[in-house]
Amino acid sequence: MRNALGLMLASVVTAVVIAVVWFFTASPRAQLAAPNTVSAPLSEQLAAAAPARPLPARDDVEVTSAIPAKSSTASQPSAPMPPKTACANPDALGVSRVVEIDTTGGPGFGFEHFKQLDFLTDKEVVLTFDDGPWPVNTPAVLKALEDECTRAVFFPIGKHATYHPEILRQVAAAGHTVGAHTWSHANLNSKKMTEQLAKDEIEKGFSAVRLALGAAPTPFFRFPELQHGPAAMAYLGSRNVAIFSCDLDSFDFRAKDAAQIVNTVMTKLDKQGKGIILMHDFQKHTAEAMPALLRRLKAGGYKVVQMRAKAPLRTLPEYDEALVKDIKVPTASTRPVGSVVQTVSE
Ligand SMILES: [Zn+2]
Repeated sequence: MRNALGLMLASVVTAVVIAVVWFFTASPRAQLAAPNTVSAPLSEQLAAAAPARPLPARDDVEVTSAIPAKSSTASQPSAPMPPKTACANPDALGVSRVVEIDTTGGPGFGFEHFKQLDFLTDKEVVLTFDDGPWPVNTPAVLKALEDECTRAVFFPIGKHATYHPEILRQVAAAGHTVGAHTWSHANLNSKKMTEQLAKDEIEKGFSAVRLALGAAPTPFFRFPELQHGPAAMAYLGSRNVAIFSCDLDSFDFRAKDAAQIVNTVMTKLDKQGKGIILMHDFQKHTAEAMPALLRRLKAGGYKVVQMRAKAPLRTLPEYDEALVKDIKVPTASTRPVGSVVQTVSE
């Protein structure tokens, strides 16, 4: 009898010990399980600390590999991430996930030319826009994307970035990824193209984006006309710049109207099931097509993936400096007009 009582007492003590150990070891895991791979800026942390405000859903950031590459970015800050605001549209297309690309060695994306990195799952799309920034059309594309709380990758032309830096800054400020698309949209695979000229087109394009943004561009590059010159490919690899082809060409530049662009993209997408979509924010019909196209994507159950880079591109100082001299501006001014020009008599 005494033995039985002792045994019961021992069982109870054991149960209590197990419960206490479980409480202290298991409960912190619940916090670790939350997706939290990037450190929040101070403003977000403060917001999170205030219990009254609901927390916005965090993006699910994925990293393609885990090579630390911090050393070379110290002197060139990347464009700051804009604060995340809640989406005003409850039925928005949104962004289903954000992927972070390690651009070491110049990985290629887009099945039209590169088959190795098949990271999109069924119904996932990446929106990409070339040839901007351009008045009216680029802001219209930005508005459509903003209305759907979604994000894209832009490949601006260097020259256009120097004509309309304020529009490119709007692109970056809206949280989109900004790569480059050469200085003058030259075909880097033509017979007349030399290695030096190709390098100049690539570097000057990135430097122009940097000058316009006042911050380092993303090391993402798309060849004009998707003309992949082998020497230029090798050069981009040596600069750790990811190369973008596409899975699905909208052929928006030759569409007769917006409806044709929507139909082309949706027909191809419904056949392929997913993909990186090539469009042009430079084109009027594309800007007009965006609201309807984004609605169709949502209705079709497609999800937008945003691509970012793990580290910004370090532009080459000689190209940065040459560009400033070429276009004869001292530097990209961030001063408001009112602080530069003042009416003193009327
Ligand atoms: Zn182009």
